[in-house]
Amino acid sequence: MSEQLQVAIVGGGIGGLTAALALWARGLKVAIFEQAVELSEIGAGISIHTNAALLLQRIGLTDSIKKIGVPIAGLLLRTSAGEAIDFSAGASSGVQTYNVHRAEFRKLLADAQPEGALHLGHRLSRASQTDGRVQLTFTNGATVETDLVIGADGIHSTLQREIGLKTHPSSEGIMAYRGLIPSRQLSWAKDIGGKMRMWLGRGRSFLCYPVSSGRLMNMVAFVPTNLKSEESWTAPGDLNMLAAEYAGWDDPVLETIRGLDETFRWGIYDRAALPYWSTGRMTLLGDAAHPMVPHLGQGAAQAIEDGFTLAVLLEGAKRQDVPRLLKVYERLRLERTSQIQIMARETGRFFRSEYQDGAERDQLMVRWIAATGRIHGHDAEKTAKEALLLPGNDEAILTV
Ligand SMILES: Cc1cc2nc3c(=O)[nH]c(=O)nc-3n(C[C@H](O)[C@H](O)[C@H](O)COP(=O)(O)OP(=O)(O)OC[C@H]3O[C@@H](n4cnc5c(N)ncnc54)[C@H](O)[C@@H]3O)c2cc1C
Repeated sequence: MSEQLQVAIVGGGIGGLTAALALWARGLKVAIFEQAVELSEIGAGISIHTNAALLLQRIGLTDSIKKIGVPIAGLLLRTSAGEAIDFSAGASSGVQTYNVHRAEFRKLLADAQPEGALHLGHRLSRASQTDGRVQLTFTNGATVETDLVIGADGIHSTLQREIGLKTHPSSEGIMAYRGLIPSRQLSWAKDIGGKMRMWLGRGRSFLCYPVSSGRLMNMVAFVPTNLKSEESWTAPGDLNMLAAEYAGWDDPVLETIRGLDETFRWGIYDRAALPYWSTGRMTLLGDAAHPMVPHLGQGAAQAIEDGFTLAVLLEGAKRQDVPRLLKVYERLRLERTSQIQIMARETGRFFRSEYQDGAERDQLMVRWIAATGRIHGHDAEKTAKEALLLPGNDEAILTV
């Protein structure tokens, strides 16, 4: 048997695909098993903030992201009536960040995989461990044996269940309407460049940013709801109901809603942090490990940080070291992602509040900017490398 570790990743979403690329880049052998028979993604935008952009840059993806994305050139905040909220976004890190279309980004990540690495039509049903190996069973009848498995299979993760964990969703009382509209149809979008625009009002917010090299404008509108909406990228929303939510708001908001042909709605559910992610040779990453409400735009970025952390820890590792290294990974990532889960929750509340007192809002804004700056400034690879160098670290970790 060769000494090169064999890694199986369950789930070919943004988290699974980037983890695979990070692991390949460090010489590991990776197979990705994705339940879908073909890779498709819904039409929605996603922001790749500095902490993720930095890592993707290191594996040489920046040029391809540049081709599909729009460089982020700041955020313009407005009240629902359109008055500017003045704030400074802090110092630039020197790493270019991008807004991308999810489908284009996922395709880019899939196309960058070595040939034969991505196995479509493989839905995991069982995972078990014996004799220092993991056995995976898929609903198509296939079975695979591997040295370790990473569950990157999203919020309804099967591997999470196989590890003995369960998350309990609780509604945030919010849902997100999403939509895409050709930018050229929007009079207000002519001079926007790569700027993101966000309007904040009572119980609601409205965010727009360009994707697909500027051709499309992505819209995400967070509104209160007592409906039981699915967590689904494809559940259709009602354009009239969306318009009613924003009656009387700033003109660009109304123009954007009028211009939409269709909208989709995603129920926003929150989940508490999991107590642990790894057992033996099985671990989790991305939404399977730390599902979070989307108000910070950090869900995918944290999945990307997870994958790069694993790659640093597993590079050159021996088979017998895997359970210990997965505990190192868990310890490194669980604390940070739990804090970000909390912060994402608080950010949602902040965005939805209507501040009669502008000074109170501005004070909160300063704190929010400082906190997001800390999230964006993190270097997951550097942190993982430093953790490997800590003497005596392993003993403590083994008792977790
Ligand atoms: C409205 C909204 C806006 C957002 N905006 C941002 C943003 O701007 N920036 C950001 O960083 N994040 C954002 N997020 C969060 C981000 O979308 C998620 O955190 C990210 O997609 C998680 O990636 P993942 O790979 O962990 O999971 P997923 O993308 O859910 O991928 C999981 C994959 O696993 C597959 N799978 C599931 N079960 C199995 C199985 N049993 N066997 C095999 N395969 C399986 C699925 O088919 C899927 O392909 C947003 C989320 C929402 C809802």
